[in-house]
Amino acid sequence: MKQFICNNCGNKHDITPTIWKCECGGVLNIVKDTPKIDVADWRNYPNSLWRYYETMPFAKDSKIWESVTMGEGQSPLIVLDPLEPNTYVKVDYMMPTLSFKDRGAAVLMTKAKELGVSKVIADSSGNAGTAIAAYAARCNIACDIYLSDETSPKKIAQVKAHGATIKEIRGTREDIAAAAQRAVEEENVFYASHVYNPYFYEGTKTYAYEVFEQLKGAPDTLIIPVGNGTLLLGAYYGFKELLENGLIERMPKVIAIQAANCAPLVNAYKHGEVTAKPITNEGTLAEGIAIAAPARSKQILEAVQETNGTFIDIQEDEILSAREKLSDKGFYVEVTSAVNYAGYLKYEKGQDEKIIIPLCGAGIKSK
Ligand SMILES: *Cc1c(COP(=O)(O)O)cnc(C)c1O
Ligand SMILES: [Zn+2]
Repeated sequence: MKQFICNNCGNKHDITPTIWKCECGGVLNIVKDTPKIDVADWRNYPNSLWRYYETMPFAKDSKIWESVTMGEGQSPLIVLDPLEPNTYVKVDYMMPTLSFKDRGAAVLMTKAKELGVSKVIADSSGNAGTAIAAYAARCNIACDIYLSDETSPKKIAQVKAHGATIKEIRGTREDIAAAAQRAVEEENVFYASHVYNPYFYEGTKTYAYEVFEQLKGAPDTLIIPVGNGTLLLGAYYGFKELLENGLIERMPKVIAIQAANCAPLVNAYKHGEVTAKPITNEGTLAEGIAIAAPARSKQILEAVQETNGTFIDIQEDEILSAREKLSDKGFYVEVTSAVNYAGYLKYEKGQDEKIIIPLCGAGIKSK
């Protein structure tokens, strides 16, 4: 029986349908050893993120995932411009709900189904809610999604289409999370949080496994947008597992990107702080990463530092121009995802440096 361990006080907790944080307030991780990777196992699974099933903390013979999957994962890795042959985009908007959040949602909802839950609650700036709503529908599990009344109408339409109940909250992203958490406590249900539930990261870690297979090795550098850090931490954990299994020789450098108008992690990094102090969101076009108080800030800062990475912040006027430049090259991304390319353009890369930029959300999701 797997357990959770608190990232703050180290206390262990049994995994139940309703636990989502430690009584000390700390976030939870899964108690587990580094999985032993046997690359030969991978071809026994369909060509999706489930190729890496045996590296995830599930019983090997459980078949629950087979009824949950919609073929998510194995997104293309493409040279963006032939003049820069070492820069790749990973087209993670080619997913069932058009964002990378399907990686985490598929795995997290597989866990929810295994636990036999009948209802989940999640809060989101849009894409996580869309992904959880879709996979909850797939699992026949009832679902309430808490989101801002300012969320892109296209994302709200997606959530609605899957039959989830929408709870529109007026307030900051933090107010919305607090409302969802109150409901989780009152109703005593499963909190399908992409931030708090560590099973989500077992899904996003497959980003690293896929890049490893596609490049036949590790890249030098990962450009990664960060709000709550679900892609950043997942990619970090994935490459770490590959490293500890001797499949790669060193960790790729993580270059974390935030919008300057909502950049608590950039601030903390600049001041050498261990955790990020909450800031006030000054308003940004990058709605998907506008997180003023990221719950896993300590882990994010540690991960970036350990890889010798850095943080870059992006001004509002850089966002739309980066989106246009990507469209000119054929890739239509949602506004939030343009910060990733803007970050790349600001990053001073070395000669022959192999760099991956994720395209996280599809263009039609934006207003
Ligand atoms: C969720 C999301 C992000 C950022 O992910 P975090 O987990 O908040 O760091 C970036 N871009 C898009 C399009 C997203 O949906
Ligand atoms: Zn604790």
